[in-house]
Amino acid sequence: MARLAIFDLDGTLVDSDDALRHAFIRLGVPESEITRGHVIADECQRLGISLEDYLSAYDAAAVAPFPGAAELVGGLGRWAVCSNKHPLLGWPELRRLGWSPEVALFADAFDGGAKRLEPVIAALGVDASEVVFVGDTAHDRSTAETAGVSFVWAGWNPRTVPSGPYPVLSEPGELRELLEAAEPQR
Ligand SMILES: [Mg+2]
Repeated sequence: MARLAIFDLDGTLVDSDDALRHAFIRLGVPESEITRGHVIADECQRLGISLEDYLSAYDAAAVAPFPGAAELVGGLGRWAVCSNKHPLLGWPELRRLGWSPEVALFADAFDGGAKRLEPVIAALGVDASEVVFVGDTAHDRSTAETAGVSFVWAGWNPRTVPSGPYPVLSEPGELRELLEAAEPQR
């Protein structure tokens, strides 16, 4: 197991599902049309709404860390964020929570495509074998697989549907145990 964690943000560290969903609902999108884990600009285009309208309909105050998430990242030396979130929502959110990951890449860092771990790993200056990606969607899982990175499920999000041969953590603190177990023995 790796020693350094990279996190997805929405649905993994913060419980933003309601905020993300309600912004669409406020703009008249039927609830059954809403999906999770995609690039917001693509999702807005698919649903026929403007990104600007979406960003103003999003209520950041409705977003809170999952229980134990703030304690987890507060106690980690090095950690990073890799998220499809729009940077105009992602950066203020990190500031509001008082979180300062060593590297945080949002949707604008991936040339309009889906997020990738490779640039995060490069910015951290580590090897893919040294990191674990923590996520809540099948998209997160395939992002890790594409980059050849270990993956664990944020099973503390009740909407996470785990698949594949990856550990399912029931609370954020369990990640700490995994990372500590991977520390070199002296
Ligand atoms: Mg997510």
